[in-house]
Amino acid sequence: MKFATKAIHAGVAPDSATGAIMTPIYQTSTYVQEGIGKHKGFEYSRTGNPTRQALEQNLAALENGRFGLCFASGMAAIDAVVKLLEPGDEVVSTNDLYGGTYRLYTQIFAKYGIKFHFTGMHDAQQVAAQINDKTRLIWVETPTNPMLNVIDIRAMAEVAHAHNCLLGVDNTFASPYLQNPLDLGADLIMHSVTKYLGGHSDVVMGALVVNDEALAEKLYFIQNSSGAVCGPMDSFLVLRGVKTLHLRMQRHSENGRAIAGFLQGHQAVDKVYWPGLPEHPNHEVAARQMRDFGGMMSFTLKKNDLATAMQVVERVKLFSLAESLGGVESLIGHPASMTHASIPKEEREKTGVVDSLIRLSVGVEDAEDLIADLEQALAGL
Ligand SMILES: *Cc1c(COP(=O)(O)O)cnc(C)c1O
Repeated sequence: MKFATKAIHAGVAPDSATGAIMTPIYQTSTYVQEGIGKHKGFEYSRTGNPTRQALEQNLAALENGRFGLCFASGMAAIDAVVKLLEPGDEVVSTNDLYGGTYRLYTQIFAKYGIKFHFTGMHDAQQVAAQINDKTRLIWVETPTNPMLNVIDIRAMAEVAHAHNCLLGVDNTFASPYLQNPLDLGADLIMHSVTKYLGGHSDVVMGALVVNDEALAEKLYFIQNSSGAVCGPMDSFLVLRGVKTLHLRMQRHSENGRAIAGFLQGHQAVDKVYWPGLPEHPNHEVAARQMRDFGGMMSFTLKKNDLATAMQVVERVKLFSLAESLGGVESLIGHPASMTHASIPKEEREKTGVVDSLIRLSVGVEDAEDLIADLEQALAGL
């Protein structure tokens, strides 16, 4: 099956009891057993729930993977991945990382004896230099948040596998429509389902997709033991959202292209970071591993100060000033003071998160209206 067909049909079947075409919300904690150990595949909803299971199968199919697992949030999904490791193990991670992941690594798991190294990942040699015999996991985010760096997943898979490490990819920004990391050699995909997969800014959820059965078993064990599962109502909402993922991503990408072009030509704007621009330093890798370039972008102002950036984000009317991304409505954010506030200023500026950096999650509205809004917000700067 191809992508759009899978988005609509994978993992879901008409309800066997009633014929309901939509997967019911199995709002239940437990399941009646005919006798001890005699049940229909479900015993307790932390361990398994039919609505969640339909979604897990759907997401696995969208990533061309065999096994899917859904969690209460994207962070809970990453938490489960790190729990594969033992004290003394090491992780090599992208340096331009989602702030919450950086916080989980450095403030929660570091104290359990796991060591994290952060590095740029454009050069395989540079990544290999951070690996030693204790390294178990290479963690890649691409495109990165908020600088939209694109990392060559295939090259990272080669480095990881040459050193017997797992390659995990946070595929949140791309969504499975734009990029399928398992096909490029990754061992594990993580999504903040909260973003494009849910797509309607009404659910917080995370997911993992893997191909290897032994790895899937370990992750199911962690999912069930730690218990950070998502509920059936949220699973239903995401099953509904996913049915239009391909349509939304096409429009996000189209609008992204129009707005990146507009910003590039604006006199108040300094740099525009959108991987679809031929000038983007990683455009060639992006064109190779992505189907299109999406609606996430960042830009800096010629007047590189906090006050000017604040003015822009407060002047917009159609874009909403908010954290998060990937919904149908356009959002604007200021990484230095919002999503990346937990990263020390010196660290964040090294990766390009300067005071005037503004991030856009371009929605699926009419591009003309979005451009007019940005035009009035940037006027006179
Ligand atoms: C939002 C996000 C996360 C965390 O996901 P939650 O659902 O908010 O817990 C992780 N990685 C990236 C790239 C994100 O955008």
